[in-house]
Amino acid sequence: MKTFQLTRAADSAEAIDAAAQATTAQQGAEIRFIAGGTTLLDLMKLNVEQPEKLVDLSRLPLDEIEASPDGLTIGAGVRNSDLAYHPVVREKYAVLSEALLSGASAQLRNMATTAGNLLQRTRCMYFRATEMPCNKREPGSGCAAITGANRSLAILGTSEHCIATNPSDMNVAMAALEATIHVRGSKGERSIPIADFHLLPGKTPERETLLEPGDLITHATLPPPASGARSVYLKLRDRASYEFALVSAAVVVTIADGKVTRARIALGGVGTKPWRSNEAEAALTNQAAGEELFRRAAEAALREARPQSQNGFKVELAKRCLIHALKLATQKA
Ligand code: SF4
Repeated sequence: MKTFQLTRAADSAEAIDAAAQATTAQQGAEIRFIAGGTTLLDLMKLNVEQPEKLVDLSRLPLDEIEASPDGLTIGAGVRNSDLAYHPVVREKYAVLSEALLSGASAQLRNMATTAGNLLQRTRCMYFRATEMPCNKREPGSGCAAITGANRSLAILGTSEHCIATNPSDMNVAMAALEATIHVRGSKGERSIPIADFHLLPGKTPERETLLEPGDLITHATLPPPASGARSVYLKLRDRASYEFALVSAAVVVTIADGKVTRARIALGGVGTKPWRSNEAEAALTNQAAGEELFRRAAEAALREARPQSQNGFKVELAKRCLIHALKLATQKA
């Protein structure tokens, strides 16, 4: 691991000033914020991340969860475990609680933060191996995964430059819940819908979000749950715990008189970003709930899938995952 300087920010202005001095094209990679450190420290030990300076955010008051009639406000520093077990999250945003509890281990969830989870980096093995070409880690070096081990990688939103999946479970639930990410930076404050927050790889896979150097995520907000909505997160993986999704589905549906009146659908493990499926939502809305409809929605969700040499199985697996998640959600009392 490369040596680095550690500074503790007393307030958000100090943190933003310190980080805004970063100048590299790779989103200020020489200066990084650190909170839980569950991804960053791993990557620093592997020399994938080599910041010269870390700005510690642990003393900033960013760890509140506030429920109101306008929805839920989640501080950037809220730990994954605190969010998962919050009574309002468990009762009204079950999909988020289930997604968080399906991820990592209890120890990691006790450290990992909301903002860190939003910025979680891919588990592509070549990204983490500095001796291999990887456009995300080293722009222009190539993508070893396209002709290499790509079983776990993406089938939606890929480009010829990168096929890495976004590994977060929380982000998939946040996408289905239509979260907004609130950011404070040297140019002021802004609010970004989660659908726009993560970027497709295109020609610049090193750029993963809309954040600029010095941008500090302060909190995320969720709108109030739709009346009568039921939600489920279903994750399929190679082993039952401490494993990333092969495929996952977050569904938030409202049923009236046997019809789906509203649906919000997002998929994990298949996309280069948390994959909101407007196509599945359109297929479901105002239609009679049932297996036949759920199969049509799943077909719509995966219509644009472009599998690689080893991950063609994900197309059918993702469809079955979504169908089963919809069945579970519509069976809920
Ligand atoms: Fe790197 Fe993306 Fe290719 Fe993986 S898929 S090697 S992260 S460029």
